[in-house]
Amino acid sequence: MNTVPIIDHDPKPCKPAAGQPVPVPTRLTFWGVRGSIPTPGPTTVHYGGNTTCVEVRADGQIIILDAGTGLRLLGQQLIAEFDEQPLDLTLLLTHTHWDHIQGLPFFIPVYKPKSRLHILGYEGSRHGLEVVLAGQMENPFFPIALHEVPANVRIEELKEVNFSIGPVRAQACVANHPGICVGYRLFTSGGSIAFFPDNEPYSETSPPHGLPGEPATDAGARARSERQRLIEFLRGADVLIMDSQYDCEEYRRHAGWGHGCVKDVVSLAIEARVKRLFLFHHDPNHDDAKIRQMEAQARELVAASNSSLEVEAAREGVTFELPTASYPPT
Ligand SMILES: [Zn+2]
Ligand SMILES: [Zn+2]
Repeated sequence: MNTVPIIDHDPKPCKPAAGQPVPVPTRLTFWGVRGSIPTPGPTTVHYGGNTTCVEVRADGQIIILDAGTGLRLLGQQLIAEFDEQPLDLTLLLTHTHWDHIQGLPFFIPVYKPKSRLHILGYEGSRHGLEVVLAGQMENPFFPIALHEVPANVRIEELKEVNFSIGPVRAQACVANHPGICVGYRLFTSGGSIAFFPDNEPYSETSPPHGLPGEPATDAGARARSERQRLIEFLRGADVLIMDSQYDCEEYRRHAGWGHGCVKDVVSLAIEARVKRLFLFHHDPNHDDAKIRQMEAQARELVAASNSSLEVEAAREGVTFELPTASYPPT
């Protein structure tokens, strides 16, 4: 089986032809891969214990996907790499559950006056995104309020599902998860990346979770159409990072909780003709051995389907590089 290429943080660009711009590959780095709550300790060393945070570098942009506790490590890396140079960062939030925002108060770049952080997301609750993010830094939860940090932090609630981050085109899609939660797809010059850290795929095998008072037949039809909608959104993605928190047996006890199981996620990725799937949002009760087992199970499912899908369990600290398709981005 293929393994994820691990690269250092100073990849050498291939030599350009005379007069040609240097193509820079799209790179993604996992800074936090865990769901729900951080899980430090000897049994989670391999896959890591920090909560959701993925960095994408593409087309001159640094795009951060969610701000779980892994964001703290990314902050350290950015300061070490760029020293006192001004940073211009974009943070996309899928939703505001704790495991997706708790790293923000510990993100060193927000304490640097020259940094700019543009936070984008959808309304977090009836109070709005800005109130929710500022709330976790209010006294008595944290000593420094969000409005007191020296960096230029701008919070923007998205109203449209199509938007751009510099030359990177982005799309959002509603996820099946409690409250307001979305997934994103980024279209970079090196390929496209879909990110659904919290999502329960609708499937033919799992019972549809009807709306209150909704007849089962209607719920079944809605589940099928929702599944198709997600397949269209993901179709042909080079990389899919998706919530695969449970195995099949666990899922039976957690259906309707808003998280996926390996079997459904693999089947969704195959049907959407995704090229590479990262199992993500590892359950806090799963140790390294269990995650390895789930990765092996996912690969068996792929093999049984005669699919060319590559599948890995996401691991903290690993960088993956997408091939550069063209330059400049089209
Ligand atoms: Zn989560
Ligand atoms: Zn969540």
